[in-house]
Amino acid sequence: MTKNLLTQSWEDISKINADKFTVFLGIAPIEEHGKHLPIGVDFFETEYWIKGAIAQLEREHPQHTWGTLPTIPLGFANMGNFPGNIHVSRELIFNVVYETVSAIAKWGVKNIIIISGHADPLHTMAIEQAVEKINDENGVIALAPMGSIFHAAEKGIEVPHSVELSRKLEEFPNDFHAGWIETSCMLSILPDCVKSNYLERPNISLWDRDMMDDKKLAQVITGEGHIGFPKEATAQLGTELNADNAQIIKDATEKFIIRKGYECYVSHPLSDKPWMKLHQI
Ligand SMILES: [Zn+2]
Repeated sequence: MTKNLLTQSWEDISKINADKFTVFLGIAPIEEHGKHLPIGVDFFETEYWIKGAIAQLEREHPQHTWGTLPTIPLGFANMGNFPGNIHVSRELIFNVVYETVSAIAKWGVKNIIIISGHADPLHTMAIEQAVEKINDENGVIALAPMGSIFHAAEKGIEVPHSVELSRKLEEFPNDFHAGWIETSCMLSILPDCVKSNYLERPNISLWDRDMMDDKKLAQVITGEGHIGFPKEATAQLGTELNADNAQIIKDATEKFIIRKGYECYVSHPLSDKPWMKLHQI
């Protein structure tokens, strides 16, 4: 059963069997996504993927309670001075996740899954570090799998792609931000929020090593805001990408609940790089 926890009393929540209770928490920035997409892209994706995962989990595990909370609208979203962009520090992301999840832990919840549609490794790894601290203090109760899911191949996580999707990934790589991947996802989630001028956006490419060079990034995206190939988007690809993400979140959650085989979902492939980590926390 799925429960929107905002509609429950504390007493209702106290009666849920903790052994069969999982809480999902989303956290995603309000961030510019080019001229063709709304600033809520990562927020919408986060909620849609959680919903998609829960729909499958609910069918296969009807005795379990799947609790949802509102998505926290914050993220490390360092895209420069575009109207609509709200960029906050990694320290704030660390603290908001650490304090929120610690509070949920005090209810006696043993399975907390944190999902973010925002793939910036500096954002993802602040969340993962907060989860690491929570698990050190409480025993393993939380998992933030998106850093691994966004890098499934590197983490040895298998995702079966259609021929069309595999071809697109090969032909148009480094589609980091508001490119064909996110435009496709949004064409499938909220088509009315995608402006038809996505078909006129220029291709803008950047190597992944340059994504973290603030100056280079600002220079490349000036006047547009995306990095990638928006005009390659289709609703059909978006439906597949969204379904894949929901499916992997579901798999990671199932493995985490039984504490078996979930280890590949714990950390971003860059998490062993000390300079990527938050210090003094
Ligand atoms: Zn995004």
